[in-house]
Amino acid sequence: MSRLSPETPLDGLDWIPRPKLTALKRLGITTLGDLIRHFPRRYEDRIKFDHFPDMASERAFCLFGVVRKTAYRRFGPRRIFEARVEDESAGVLGSPLLCRWFNMPWIQKMISNDDRIVLFGKPRIRGSQVVMEHPEFEIIEDEAGRSIHFDRITPVHPAGDGIAPRALRELVHRALEEADLSSIPLLWPGASEGPEIWKDVHFPRSFEELEAARSRLVREEFFGIQLVVCSRHAAVRGAGGVVRAGTGELWREVEKTLPFQLTPAQREVMAEISADLAAPFRMNRLLQGDVGSGKTLVALRAMLQAAESGWQAALMAPTQILAEQHYLNFRRILDPLGIPVVLRTASRKEESSGGPTDASPGLFDGTHGSRRVPSLVIGTHALLFEGAEFEKLGLVVIDEQHKFGVIQRSRLIARADVPDVLVMTATPIPRTITQTLYGDLDVSVIRGKPPGRGQVVTAVREPSKLPDITAFLRKKIDEGRQAYVVYPLVDESEKLEAKSARVEFEKWRELLAPAEVGLVHGRLSPEEKESAMRGFREGRIAALVATTVIEVGVDVPNACIMIIENAGRFGLSQIHQLRGRIGRGAEKSYCILLHEAPDDATKAKLAALENSSDGFEIAEADLRLRGPGDILGTAQSGFPPLRLGDLLRDGDVMTEARTVAREILEADPDLVQPGHEILRRFVDKSLQPTSTVS
Ligand code: ADP
Ligand code: MG
Repeated sequence: MSRLSPETPLDGLDWIPRPKLTALKRLGITTLGDLIRHFPRRYEDRIKFDHFPDMASERAFCLFGVVRKTAYRRFGPRRIFEARVEDESAGVLGSPLLCRWFNMPWIQKMISNDDRIVLFGKPRIRGSQVVMEHPEFEIIEDEAGRSIHFDRITPVHPAGDGIAPRALRELVHRALEEADLSSIPLLWPGASEGPEIWKDVHFPRSFEELEAARSRLVREEFFGIQLVVCSRHAAVRGAGGVVRAGTGELWREVEKTLPFQLTPAQREVMAEISADLAAPFRMNRLLQGDVGSGKTLVALRAMLQAAESGWQAALMAPTQILAEQHYLNFRRILDPLGIPVVLRTASRKEESSGGPTDASPGLFDGTHGSRRVPSLVIGTHALLFEGAEFEKLGLVVIDEQHKFGVIQRSRLIARADVPDVLVMTATPIPRTITQTLYGDLDVSVIRGKPPGRGQVVTAVREPSKLPDITAFLRKKIDEGRQAYVVYPLVDESEKLEAKSARVEFEKWRELLAPAEVGLVHGRLSPEEKESAMRGFREGRIAALVATTVIEVGVDVPNACIMIIENAGRFGLSQIHQLRGRIGRGAEKSYCILLHEAPDDATKAKLAALENSSDGFEIAEADLRLRGPGDILGTAQSGFPPLRLGDLLRDGDVMTEARTVAREILEADPDLVQPGHEILRRFVDKSLQPTSTVS
């Protein structure tokens, strides 16, 4: 029998039941090769099953038993189907297990008395019974297909509407027999594995064999990803750019006026960025640095270099509060040097330090010495829309880039002429993820913070401690310090947000009287927000009650206490961001995380914050606690979900794949032109190389 090409479409094969074609298509499976690359999401050891549990567990059990009794009951509006399953393996009668399905009447048609059944789920205790609720299950039929489904390590494939794991297993098994496996390309240079690798990953004969095949295919998967992102990177470089070398003169003057020394890390990334701007290719760089590490000055220096070279530079920030703060900050530094700055936000179309007489700021309206320099532009999303005009926009800086979508970022970039792009983020992410999500960018990292910052002590407390906390807060306020009180969005609805903000605000106003308390939340008008922020910045307001609008960027060094209510509702990295608002002065700072009776997961999360103040460590902990599953493959990321690899577990493999991909692309740049044969055949369809700058 001659074997079929992996490219053979499924609709030409008579062993694929017609009704399943649609279901397969929904899973992205249209060819024989697609079936073979539809990897199992887990495996069940159907040779050596678990013992029937007699207590609850967070680990899922895989059991084999016989259905002894079924019942269908109503409980008010709820309909429950129950099946009592007994253990018959090894002839031992363990305690029976009760399986329950709520409001899923069709299950009743699938399970009958005396069925032999495989179950997969977490045991719970309900009353005196051991129960599994909504376990995954499969009825084991007699002889037919037994060698595929039973007495072996059995794959469970991602299934979908209209197709169950059992049916998929049979189709994959058949595909492996029919297809010419040796013609499925393996990309990794010098790959020596034979076609068995595909069989081993679906139907392994041992867990060792499985692990060997899996790690080998993870390498393939990651290598495919790296070929794509590295080729995007190469395409941007290859497209050519503008030399924006400047003279360094403006920055030298600015630096003289700074009341502190730059940190070595700041100098280092400034040099990297400066070299990128001066080089004849386009900069496409990500600047990562923990909150408070001093990224703004790095941006300022880059913007001045662009201006000196005759190009306009724009900085986009995600909130009005932050854009305004940058604007004031830049003006303080640049006004004495006669370098113009323009602010563009939605509320007030334009504000500027003004050039001599120019009616349309944003043009070459500043004079520095005898030369004219283009104004620096700072703004919010308003920069994306009509009415915000640029003249020779050559450098785009995006602050707190994770707060913007891919589309918003590229929209601003598209307004520039042959732009250099710098995106900044205070949400550090582990290296493997950077290499993937931002694999087409160069990365600069600022490690550590400027010296002289006070320590931040973080403590988790029950809300019952509020009186003590309030007394402490009052004492600090009497000493002239300031505080933030942050609470989570209980409800996304605008009205509720405003209402609960008010309630919180009134509560704290009473608690802290006669000290002045301010309020900011997303539903205030820009003027109201600005006036509260100004009051806080200038020290008139002692405590600011706020939602997460203050999460990014806000810099008030005298604020040294932060109380976060219902802290468990926030994500780990988000609390770390919030906490970055304090500890900015020399004073010792306190971050108090309030949470009523936290469960174990919440406790673990909050403890991670007590134990570390390093953003990278926190980000790793966050990943571990949440699992990496949702990092790629979200709508935002532009990546398909990983099929086999695990960014945490297989991190080193990603690094290796990146190195090899780069070497190969350097040796043969044509290899990964968009639409190239190899990518078309191998790399996930949704990951084909597309544009240049992302
Ligand atoms: P982030 O990286 O979070 O954006 P910022 O740029 O807002 O941090 O900087 C935080 C604060 O640190 C600002 O008040 C800034 O003026 C100050 N700062 C920046 N660089 C230094 C330095 N080298 N030494 C001391 N303070 C610095
Ligand atoms: Mg910042």
